[in-house]
Amino acid sequence: MQTHFTDSQRTLPNIQIADEVLRKCVHCGFCTATCPTYRLTGDERESPRGRISLIQHLLESEEVPSAATVANLDHCLSCLSCESTCPSGVSYRRLIDQGRELIEEKYQRPVIERWYRTLLAWLLPRRHWFRRALIAGRWAKPLLNQFGKHLAPVGALSKLIPEKIANETEMIQPGTYQAEGQEIKRVALITGCVQSTLAPEIDAAAVRVLTRHGCTVIVSEPSGAGCCGALPHHLGKSQQARKMAEANLLSWQDLLRDEVHPLDAVLMTASGCSSMLKDYPHLVESNFSNILSLLVNDISIILNVLFEIKKPALRSDHAPATAIVWQSPCSLQHGLKEKTAPISALQTCGFTVHEPRDAHLCCGSAGTYNLLQPDFAGQLAAEKIDRLAETQAEIVVSGNIGCITQLSKKSSADKHLPVIHLAEIIDWATGGPVPKAISDNLN
Ligand code: SF4
Ligand code: SF4
Repeated sequence: MQTHFTDSQRTLPNIQIADEVLRKCVHCGFCTATCPTYRLTGDERESPRGRISLIQHLLESEEVPSAATVANLDHCLSCLSCESTCPSGVSYRRLIDQGRELIEEKYQRPVIERWYRTLLAWLLPRRHWFRRALIAGRWAKPLLNQFGKHLAPVGALSKLIPEKIANETEMIQPGTYQAEGQEIKRVALITGCVQSTLAPEIDAAAVRVLTRHGCTVIVSEPSGAGCCGALPHHLGKSQQARKMAEANLLSWQDLLRDEVHPLDAVLMTASGCSSMLKDYPHLVESNFSNILSLLVNDISIILNVLFEIKKPALRSDHAPATAIVWQSPCSLQHGLKEKTAPISALQTCGFTVHEPRDAHLCCGSAGTYNLLQPDFAGQLAAEKIDRLAETQAEIVVSGNIGCITQLSKKSSADKHLPVIHLAEIIDWATGGPVPKAISDNLN
């Protein structure tokens, strides 16, 4: 595609990146077929190709974005399904990130929206405050439900408040968890923010299953606020995300440069966060961000390596004779480009693994998307639950807290399918406790 940047614009690093990406796009439109929002609306401006043109215009003209353009870009899930489809290798994420930053910088949102987005960017990454807010939210739920009738995002927020809020002591504590038997691998597990509060059982299961199969796990937290930066990043608050990334890299330096006990991988059990860590070199230029990015992996890849060396001992009452369906998070299949490792790890543990139709489509969670765009998010979740249920599987397995929360709410209301994390089901199959969502379902 032709671009029309001025010579002075072309001296700017962000424009150089955008220009290179834009020139790769041949406007073929293949990406429209796999874009969730284009499928819902049939509107070119709600497609990747349409959004690319909108962002190009904003960057070239330096105009203040119109409310309509802001809505079109806000509706994008950043699911990156378009990147997986594009035959020309267009890195759409580099453009939508710039589009979001530009809106944040130039566009004046209505005051309530501005306040709500600032609140989300401040609250969600701070796990202690987030937990307190959930406790208060449980109390105020009837009031929130009333507000939610008039203000859809408040209704969406209220629906995400769990029935039971985990105790802080249930969160896995920082430290070194030694491999059982001979150490085969050594990994760092970064705990993160929202998941630690909503579902601390996931990291606990990950530590059990990894150590059981010969992997030493060093549990570490992101520094300060406790977030990898993905949440503010998705809201276009790149400065805030960059500061978090810099602080995290500083606090993980010793871990990353330990030559006596080098790491084989860095894991986060929320694939949305892993995808963010993988992308750190685009946020912070440093040697450590490159090292971290190379080490970031999905837990399923490490489990497959461990299982090859030490065959998993499956429990004899292997309740997982049940069929399961793998719901691949967008951040894993499109962000990290990993499609087969989770299925292979599950099959090694004796599961019959189904995949839903249209597995490439987003469930509507997408960071804070379900809190900001509840209408689109609700439609996508309903479609995803139907696709998962039609496989006749009894358990949904996923790899990202956003998808798990989004689908659990919808599924428990409509289809009664428990939704659990891959680490939990593999832990269960190899000797760990019954996953919480399954035991809750049985009671
Ligand atoms: S598939 Fe790729 S090249 Fe074709 S329109 Fe979409 S982004 Fe552009
Ligand atoms: S990131 Fe997802 S929603 Fe956004 S344009 Fe690409 S496919 Fe569509």
